[in-house]
Amino acid sequence: MRLSIFARLLISYLILFCMLGGVSLYFISHINRFNGVIHSIMMNDTAVLELSGQLSDILLSETRNERKYFVLNDEQLFLNYLEAKADFNSLLNDAMAKTTSQQIKHILYTVSIRHHDFNRLVEVERQQVRLARQYSTEWYADEKKKAADELIDQIKNIRQASEQNVLAKIMALSVQGDRAVQVSVMITLFALATGLIVALVITATITRPLNQIRAKTKEISRGNFQGDLLINSPPTIAELAGAINTMCHKLQEVDTMKTDFFAHMSHELRTPLASIKEGTSMLLDGVGGEMPEKQQRILSIINQESNRLINQVNSLLDLAKMEAGMFKYRFSPTDPAGLIQHTLDALAPLAEAKKISIVNNIGSLPPVTADRERILQAFRNIIGNAIKFTPNNGRIELRADIADGQARFAVEDSGIGISRADLDRIFLKFEQVIPAKGGNIKGTGLGLAIVKQIIIAHGGKIWATSQEGKGSTFYISLPLAA
Ligand code: ADP
Repeated sequence: MRLSIFARLLISYLILFCMLGGVSLYFISHINRFNGVIHSIMMNDTAVLELSGQLSDILLSETRNERKYFVLNDEQLFLNYLEAKADFNSLLNDAMAKTTSQQIKHILYTVSIRHHDFNRLVEVERQQVRLARQYSTEWYADEKKKAADELIDQIKNIRQASEQNVLAKIMALSVQGDRAVQVSVMITLFALATGLIVALVITATITRPLNQIRAKTKEISRGNFQGDLLINSPPTIAELAGAINTMCHKLQEVDTMKTDFFAHMSHELRTPLASIKEGTSMLLDGVGGEMPEKQQRILSIINQESNRLINQVNSLLDLAKMEAGMFKYRFSPTDPAGLIQHTLDALAPLAEAKKISIVNNIGSLPPVTADRERILQAFRNIIGNAIKFTPNNGRIELRADIADGQARFAVEDSGIGISRADLDRIFLKFEQVIPAKGGNIKGTGLGLAIVKQIIIAHGGKIWATSQEGKGSTFYISLPLAA
């Protein structure tokens, strides 16, 4: 299914959002559970603990008032006893309502029964006193003491049970807390890893086709219009790829038309130009008889220009053939140092005219596989350009080394240099990047394009580095003969 970029981004954000939402919900549920336990400790266990303290105090006041009443026989003391008894029962009910522990409920129930027994003893003894009967005060005192002691013990049990409850809940809370932290860390790591993977996968499905398109556009900019861009991508990018393919087909058509046009036009131009050149040469040689000096000068200009025109048409024809893959090369093992020396000898008058010193640091080299004439043409162009674009009294140095089965030649000049932006263009045909100060330098803009075709056909490489105003270095590498 082809999802749009928007849908892909939306899905990745939704997945991340759900992951974070899940982690947050887990945290919130745990915090709520902790709050519940803390609330229960505060409202129930701590309250029961407090009530147990109050129960012991009131029991103390209850027994004190009751004892004093039987010694002093003061009704007010009995009323105080009754009040304490009522308070005790009310606290007991309160504790019963608040506790959530079955164990404490059970103890409270026992306390209630024992308290009732104690009150019953007090009531019976009061009956004896009121009826002024003889009775064993020691026996009642003993029985009441036993009941009160048991009550105190049971109240202590309530306190202990409450404390244990609080402790157990805190322990459980701590264990739960530890587990919650572990689970949270695991969930968070899982969420982060999943989020990261989803984001990477989705980003890759968007950037991969874009990178393919970028590579293709680079190829196009280098003049390679072959092959279709086949990519699996979101619809918007697929449309872009389709448009690029259509553009490539159009460019290919235009390029073929242009090559055909060059080939046709060059043929059509060469024949009449050759006739003009031949005619002017014959006239200059005096075939048509003696000529005044002025006419001779005009004729020699026509002769020179027709020569230039023939050279240019020949270059155009060569380039068209090379680009169409129709140029025939004759490869053989060739001594490159000899070719370079040959080129330097041919160009020496040009260098001397500009007082340019040429330093040839190329020693003997193993043979390279080359079409002698074409490589001579390439060196002539590169060294010729170095002379052309180097001012008077400049310097040109030639070097060579061997690396990766190729001989690499460098031609370094101290000329006008080439800007960074122009370096990418100079190997394209008709590109002349002559700055203002070199405005009178003549050229066709075809030289380097032809050299590049020649070097590529040899399985070599050509490139240049340059610093504007300081000079340029042109590199050519050629495969060594096997
Ligand atoms: P042309 O025949 O016009 O010299 P080329 O294809 O040989 O054409 O060169 C293209 C352009 O590259 C030139 O117009 C020039 O601007 C630049 N160029 C080539 N060689 C050099 C060099 N050694 N120094 C500075 N600029 C150079």
